[in-house]
Amino acid sequence: MNKSYSYGKQTIGQDDIDAVVEVLKGDWLTQGPYVKRFENELASKFGAGYVSAVANGTAGLHLIALALGWGKEDIIITSPITFLASANCILYVGATPDFVDIDPQTYTIDVNKLEDKIKEYRNKNKRIKAVIGVDYAGLPCDWESLRELSKKYDLQLVNDNCHALGAEMDGDIGYACKYADAVNMSFHPVKHITTGEGGAVLTNNQEIDENIKILRTHGMTKEKKHLIKNDGPWYYEMQHLGFNYRITDFQCALGTSQLKKLDEFVKKRNEIAEFYDLSFANDERFIVPKYSKKYKHAFHLYPLLIDFNKLEVKKHIFFDELAKSGINLQVHYIPVHLQPYYKNNFSYAENDYPVAESFYLKEVSLPIYPNLNRSDLEFIVDKIKAKAR
Ligand SMILES: *Cc1c(COP(=O)(O)O)cnc(C)c1O
Repeated sequence: MNKSYSYGKQTIGQDDIDAVVEVLKGDWLTQGPYVKRFENELASKFGAGYVSAVANGTAGLHLIALALGWGKEDIIITSPITFLASANCILYVGATPDFVDIDPQTYTIDVNKLEDKIKEYRNKNKRIKAVIGVDYAGLPCDWESLRELSKKYDLQLVNDNCHALGAEMDGDIGYACKYADAVNMSFHPVKHITTGEGGAVLTNNQEIDENIKILRTHGMTKEKKHLIKNDGPWYYEMQHLGFNYRITDFQCALGTSQLKKLDEFVKKRNEIAEFYDLSFANDERFIVPKYSKKYKHAFHLYPLLIDFNKLEVKKHIFFDELAKSGINLQVHYIPVHLQPYYKNNFSYAENDYPVAESFYLKEVSLPIYPNLNRSDLEFIVDKIKAKAR
């Protein structure tokens, strides 16, 4: 009877199952009508001119890096508090990653430190080509300032939006495409909506979209207007080195069905966040997420900061103890620059990004997903408070 909780989990209903089964009975398993349909639904939901559904969020980031023309000479900035893929996509194309510390209030990239970093490079006669902003936990970055910097210093902007489906800026759910040249989403089961594995790239730039679509399927084209010559109806040309980063039709049927419920999912996540806020906000041992009314938070994660120095319990023991009650916490994230691969290849070291590193020591991601009910939440809060003393 013991329930167990993790930080995130999919919500699948009979409607989702029916949608997938219907496609499985039909003629197309891979590139059928549902891919286009899912893309169209995403475009209208998030106000994007162009959408490409892809195999997963990491593939989406790789395609963005290629479509934006990043290469060997380029320096690309992201946040150290993100999933590995946000930084790895820079390495895939041979460019150089660098990091800018997070803001201690919002946990997203610190725009003042970003400008310092831009100037630092300028003094060395180098320039930053692009910034990948990560809307960490579901809270949009300071995109207005990012856009100002992008104009001032001629930067490309990418939004790694994997945490923030359904978030809003000034009441606008389509903010991501407004501010960034390209936007990346993931439909992994822990994210807001799922297709199993899956992702999408959104943009308002037609040229970026064309690049993404051709690179998603081996860099080949059959479109007459793009062909250099044409031998006949069978003819196709490979003009770029691409990949098979396609998604299947039955996954897109699931995605289409899930997308209908996004608003409801985000509402539920906000209700859970509010319960945690009320439970932890007036206790000095904890820091709950804070953000301005300008934003609607999508709460992919609920990052609670715990000052383990003030407690008589070490973080790893706290984790072990809660796991005994079936509460499997997580930490998002181990700062990327401290990963052995990054330390070894780029000589990053401890204390390079002190805000991110102290955040890492305190951060605990509490369970947050639509199927948690009131008694689940009371149980989780009680167990956490009982251990934290
Ligand atoms: C999930 C995630 C990704 C990668 O998505 P996959 O679909 O798992 O490849 C990239 N960036 C961030 C911030 C993510 O949370």
